Amino acid sequence: MILIAACLLMVSCQSHEKQNKLYEEGISLELAQLRKQEIKNLKYDLSFSISEKKEDPVNGEAHIRFNLQHPQEIILDFRESADKIKEISINGKTSTYIFRNEHLILPEASSMQGENDVYIRFTAGNQSLNRNDEYLYTLLVPDRARTVFPCFEQPNLKAEFTLQLEVPDSWEAVSNTSIQTETTENGRKNLTFYPTEPLSTYLFSFVAGKLKKVEYADGERILTAYHRETDPKRIDQLDIIFHQVASSLHWLEEYTGMPYPFAKYSFIILPGFQYGGMEHTGATIYNDTRMFLSEHPTPDEELGRAELIAHETAHMWFGDLVTMDWFNDVWTKEVFANYFAACITEPLFPNINHSLNWLKTYTAASLSEDRTLGSTSIRQPLDNLRNAGLIYGNIIYNKAPVMMKKLVEIMGEEAYREGIQEYVKTYAYNNATWDDLITILDRKTEEDLVSFSDVWVNEKGMPHISFTRIGQQLIIRQSDPYQRGLIWPQSFQITMKGETDKLLEINLNDSTLVLNLPEDTYAILPNTDGRGYGLFIPDVNSREWLLKHWQETKDDTARQSLLMLLYENYQANLISDQIWMNTLLSGLSAEKNALTASTICSYLGEPLRKIGNEETEEKIWEWSEKHPIPSCKLQLIRSLISNTNSMASIERIYQLWKDQSHPLLNERDYMNMAYELAIRKPSLHESIIDTQRNRLSNPDRLREFDFISKAVTPDTLKMDECFQSLMKAENRRIEPWAASALSYLNHPQRGDYAIKYIRPGLEVMKEIQRTGDIFFPRNWAGALLRHHRSPEAYEEIQRFFKAHPNYPTLLKNKILQAAWPLYREAANSLEM
Ligand SMILES: [Zn+2]
Repeated sequence: MILIAACLLMVSCQSHEKQNKLYEEGISLELAQLRKQEIKNLKYDLSFSISEKKEDPVNGEAHIRFNLQHPQEIILDFRESADKIKEISINGKTSTYIFRNEHLILPEASSMQGENDVYIRFTAGNQSLNRNDEYLYTLLVPDRARTVFPCFEQPNLKAEFTLQLEVPDSWEAVSNTSIQTETTENGRKNLTFYPTEPLSTYLFSFVAGKLKKVEYADGERILTAYHRETDPKRIDQLDIIFHQVASSLHWLEEYTGMPYPFAKYSFIILPGFQYGGMEHTGATIYNDTRMFLSEHPTPDEELGRAELIAHETAHMWFGDLVTMDWFNDVWTKEVFANYFAACITEPLFPNINHSLNWLKTYTAASLSEDRTLGSTSIRQPLDNLRNAGLIYGNIIYNKAPVMMKKLVEIMGEEAYREGIQEYVKTYAYNNATWDDLITILDRKTEEDLVSFSDVWVNEKGMPHISFTRIGQQLIIRQSDPYQRGLIWPQSFQITMKGETDKLLEINLNDSTLVLNLPEDTYAILPNTDGRGYGLFIPDVNSREWLLKHWQETKDDTARQSLLMLLYENYQANLISDQIWMNTLLSGLSAEKNALTASTICSYLGEPLRKIGNEETEEKIWEWSEKHPIPSCKLQLIRSLISNTNSMASIERIYQLWKDQSHPLLNERDYMNMAYELAIRKPSLHESIIDTQRNRLSNPDRLREFDFISKAVTPDTLKMDECFQSLMKAENRRIEPWAASALSYLNHPQRGDYAIKYIRPGLEVMKEIQRTGDIFFPRNWAGALLRHHRSPEAYEEIQRFFKAHPNYPTLLKNKILQAAWPLYREAANSLEM
């Protein structure tokens, strides 16, 4: 009897709790599941009136139409203040409503079985309208549509959107579909757009403002670009951009067996855009610095642009056409976008070694996050859509493609492609989970994809794979850094160095593998094909050999893989700064591959900063003049600009900046040099900033310079003022600029002074998550912590976590990822 009563109580508590979840802030999984079940045939009819002045409110109206099986309470999402709602009616009758926890709750009595039409007149929230002096753009991913207009915000309630915009008549406007009607009256332009295909709310978008329009014919298809660039040399690059968009479209149509699934293809290139790009159907947005490259771009920058274009274009099929059911699976769209971006880019750059580029791009970025204490699994649970932004990071963008490549290797290319075609066809204009995909792929292979996915997708961290030599025996041991006893099944090659090199394929499906070595083996090089993933720790003699001879490896991919392997060992404190610096410098002189040379240049930054002196810097200056690869020369100068310790180098940089005659440096380099010099030569700060300012003509770049240069003042009161201004959300609106300013405030030269910024900078992280876009918590934490190395800075972070024992895990991971250099230093000093 007592037991039964207790059970009843429990059931009622549980359902009560579930009921409460429906009304909590954000969109709980429970609310999303309920609405998915109840709401059918959803359509949005939206109109917005936009004034030329960015301070004026944007007024809007929405008709939200949908079918219900039976009358019921309707819970809409609107993340704004209650006074922004002006009027609500349902099916023609004014309705009462409750505004609570970012929801508009309409009573059951006002709804009816069958079709319902909710009409709402409102003022749009500004948070995701990105309003600038001459333009605005929406960026609604992952859950920001609800800041602009009331809606059912969840990716699996796809809807047809019809948009009407009223804008100043000198403005252009772009949205997911083409313009259907256009009229002008009293200096105002009224535009209506065709209805969209079924779209998730995060993909709905419009851009309006003073934009230049350029068209390009790709056979029957017209591609359209909009931009604000003024430099003719940059605008000329549109030809390359169009060509790469067209090639990406053709590749994807061919591979998926499905023609481009949306009405039109246009893109908008904008300054200050917070991401590289965003895949709105028919209105993809790109960041201008990623599209319009400066003169003398490095091979990385050129490849990066093509990969970004291919990435966003792949999303049209993977993400836009087939969408994740819930944002816990957002990685399923990013993994395809990046995996296929690599495939699409390959034929565009026939002279590049693409397996090497894969390592440099995806594997390296994945390791950079996976080695930290903030590492996560690829698939992470998500209780509420408001936390969706924190799921993004290098693990989903870079580890997921590394995992996918292994999966393709297991299945075979053809079976994989068949599976993908079936997936796209089955779930077109709909939603799918990772399990849905694995079910399709699993049918195409004998291999057990489910248990493969269990460890690679559902668990965090990477294996540590150590090599030990005992006489003629080699023992390869795989261990789990988090002591869960996990085994990551994978294959890779090793090279046994002897009189002749011998390659051996290793299938590591267990914790230990024992092999007999040929008599003449003097070194064993792990993972020489780069297919393996994890921290590879060579035996001591082989590591010694590698540190001296890695650069003699002829095969480019093997050489890159070994360089990265050594870097991971350096990161794991197994190699000292001095030895690492020597290894890099000896590799640099011999390196002929531009991508590997670029890797060396980027690795040089850390030891240069820590132990660099006039003598080593002199050597690097020499190579910056005589290295046969031009992009390498440029990267070495850039590395010196950010990491120098010597007065001689600072003087040299100052002369370069003053003369402005270096054949490789560009406008952005001179801007960066001005920031660095202002910090390093405080007495000349004012004249440096004034001179650089007078050199800029593009108004967008001038605004950027004025914003960031405030952070490089030598006046500590003004520094504090600048920091305080960044504490306010309205001053972080242009996120790349805010992150740059924060990073300069925490410049290595200011390490001691800037420790005081760490605690308040961390305290504001929750607000950063709430007010910023998806990459901003990560970028903010990075800008705040990246340059700190002192034990005091480490202690600040410890104190912060101690003061917040129940700090949200997803956010804590972002801090732990960014604080990696501090944790690494702390571990190193313990080992000493
Ligand atoms: Zn993406």
